[in-house]
Amino acid sequence: MNRKIINKISWVKLLKVMEKEAKKRNAPVFEISNYIDGPFQYLIFAVLSSRTRDDQTLKAASNLFKKAKTPEDLARMSIEEIQKLIKGVGFYRIKAKRIKELAKIISERGIPDNFKDLIKLPSVGRKTANVVISNAFKKPAIAVDTHVHRISNRLGLVKTKKPEETENELKKIVPKEFWRKINKVFVGFGQTVCKPIKPLCKECPFKLYCPSSDFLPSPSQEPSTGSH
Ligand code: SF4
Repeated sequence: MNRKIINKISWVKLLKVMEKEAKKRNAPVFEISNYIDGPFQYLIFAVLSSRTRDDQTLKAASNLFKKAKTPEDLARMSIEEIQKLIKGVGFYRIKAKRIKELAKIISERGIPDNFKDLIKLPSVGRKTANVVISNAFKKPAIAVDTHVHRISNRLGLVKTKKPEETENELKKIVPKEFWRKINKVFVGFGQTVCKPIKPLCKECPFKLYCPSSDFLPSPSQEPSTGSH
């Protein structure tokens, strides 16, 4: 497995450089914490965000949270009302139904603060559970979405096919103190520099040692793990 980049720079430096590059380019992910707070909002936001751009998710979430301050408020709303407020996110009709169902459950039982119980909730998968654990409950967890999965493979930190495998591999190599940072920083970097299509390798600080870079000094000698 190619983890040369980590031999050259530390996790602290890697995350610092990524975050700096992403913030310089106003990555939308860093705006989220200005609007979203607490387990209820993080949970609903994560459900809304699936297959939807962050700016659309933010708009829908802000409309929704103006009307629904608590799970009880949300559980009382009609599906049609929720649909109107979240229109713009992908699959908004299905999501409205699921969000109401979820709100009903958490208004009765509360929001669990552990992975095992969170993933038992409807519409909550590994990524959402880890987002809630790390952001809302401030416990160590690595939430792997498409950005984290793609960048980890492009940089050669892992060699995996599925996000769940990436999560497990990253947990082996990333010191626990950095787990909570991985999602936000990698997402920001993925939104702005290491984009899914046409990554900005020319402007990337890792271009000289990333195995997927177009700018490696000897590309033929480097194994490629890139998805582009
Ligand atoms: S060099 Fe290119 S592929 Fe590698 S991390 Fe940077 S943008 Fe992504």
